[in-house]
Formats: sequence, C-alpha cells, structure tokens
Amino acid sequence: MAWTRFGKKKDMPGGLWIKCENCGQMLFRKEFEQRFRVCSACGYHFTLPGRERVALTADPGTFEELYKNLVAEDRLGFVDRVPYAEKLKETGKKTGESDAMIVGTCTIKGLPVVLGVMNFSFMGGSMGMVVGEKVARAIELATARKLPVVLFCCSGGARMHEGPISLMQMAKTCGALARLNEAGGVSISVMTHPTTGGVTASFASVCDVLIAEPHALIGFAGPRVIATTIKKELPKGFQRAEFLLEKGQIDKIVPRASLRDEVARLVAYATGQDPVKAFKEPWETGVPVEVAAPAESEPAPAPKKKVRAKTAE
Ligand SMILES: [Zn+2]
Repeated sequence: MAWTRFGKKKDMPGGLWIKCENCGQMLFRKEFEQRFRVCSACGYHFTLPGRERVALTADPGTFEELYKNLVAEDRLGFVDRVPYAEKLKETGKKTGESDAMIVGTCTIKGLPVVLGVMNFSFMGGSMGMVVGEKVARAIELATARKLPVVLFCCSGGARMHEGPISLMQMAKTCGALARLNEAGGVSISVMTHPTTGGVTASFASVCDVLIAEPHALIGFAGPRVIATTIKKELPKGFQRAEFLLEKGQIDKIVPRASLRDEVARLVAYATGQDPVKAFKEPWETGVPVEVAAPAESEPAPAPKKKVRAKTAE
C-alpha cells in the first residue's frame, strides 16, 4: 500500500488488518477501506491514494482524465541514491501513474468542475515540472470554460530532483490562479494530510476557499526545523488543521465523509445554483455509489453477539 514518509508501514502479515497510526487500534482492512481510510475508533484520516480520492469525489463515470501523457525530464542529470530518470521510471511502474498529479473534468453531484488530485504515493506527492504544469493547465482550462476548479492537495513539497525548476512551479500555478481570479473564476483547495513545502506555499494556500481534512498536517518547513531555528518549544497542535483554523489560516475543516457534499455546496454557491438542493440530494452519508457504505452489512461477528446478549438480558 501507499508508502508515506510521515507514517511507517505497520501492516500485519497478510494485510488483513492495519494498525491505526494515531490510536493503535487494529482495523479490519476491508472495512477500513470502505470507510475511505478513516479510523473507526478515533476518526484519524489516513492519506488517501489519488485514484480513491477521484472515485470518492467525482460522480461515477464522469471523470475524464487530461494531460495524462506529461512526463518529467531529468534536466539536471540528478543522482540521489538512484538517478532521477531511473527513479521516475521505477515509481511509474510501481504506481501505474506518470507523476504525482491527476487532473480531469467531472461533475460533482451533477455540477461540472475541473478536478485536480495529488497522489502522495508518487514520490511523496512532490511538485516538479509535471505537477506544476498539470495544475496550471487545470486552472487555465477552468478559466477558459468558466468552471470552478477543485484541487485536492497532498504533498511533501517541491521535488528537489528538479532543482529550481520545481520552485518555478510555485510562481506558475499562482500566476494561473491570479488570472482565473481576474476572470471571475472560483478555486477551491482541499488540504489533506500532509500538505507541506512548496505546495502549501503556493496554489494550496491561494485558492478562494481553503478547506482542510481533520488533523491534517499543513505547513511549510517541518516542525523540527522550525523549533531548532527559533530555539523555542512549539505550541501544542502546531501545523495541524485545527490549530490553523483557530489562527485563521484556513476557512473550514470538513471530515472526509462530508467533503463531497461540502464541495458541491460551495460549487453551487459559486455558480449561482441552489446550494440547498446540491447539499440535500442523495448523499446523507457522503458515500458514493462505487464505494460501499461504512460496513454495517459485514462487521466482525463479535459485536452482533454482544448486542444479542444485551437484548436478552
Ligand atoms: Zn485510530
């Protein structure tokens, strides 16, 4: 499953169970995935793979992917442990993706949007030339077609393998957003765990509406770097969504199960349609058709017995 820099792989052998990174609870993998990778015990939101995010957000069958063939070039001849060019190929094979960004058009509860989703499993969702280009093109398409653009962010920051080219993506994406803004367009950024570095410092933070998932880590430099630089202890909850909401950095925290509803409502508002209708339609639970409901249908047998025992008493 997805490799993350922020939480070591803690799968049990066989992969049937997974341990919550936050509370340590053992979770039945199938049920955990049906709950969109949210811990049933503590509500902790795990990083969601890009394709699952698209399936969770777009109306079934409406997502049309764009700019799929953009592939990064190794302009610097960068060699880390492995040459960058090789790493790109390997990661491409492993993930089946060409880079860390998925862009396309779709409808959300019947409302057309341009959707961009970052994929953390591709080199930590790092932003290089392809991610920047896809984000910029998505925004430009939204400007041309007068559609809202919705960007799901999840990134470890700029891709160091591309040196200054990766940093230029910050200006490029922000420039595209400024032109969208001038044209009267709307942009929504959803920051998910983790959104850091050059992505936080560019398009993720300059959209019209900034939403975050609960407890998401959002920041520029890591907390350890900041603590050593300023030589002070950092406040509790530093760089977490709840802390940033309190400080006014983000507009709202929305749990994953309600995100589709909330985004649809904002899109409806922004495009002059009835937001109440968009909000109420079929999604009481925020569960899309393709993903099964948080499993009441097939739980472990133990709780059922307990319920019976209680009612018998
Ligand atoms: Zn948990």
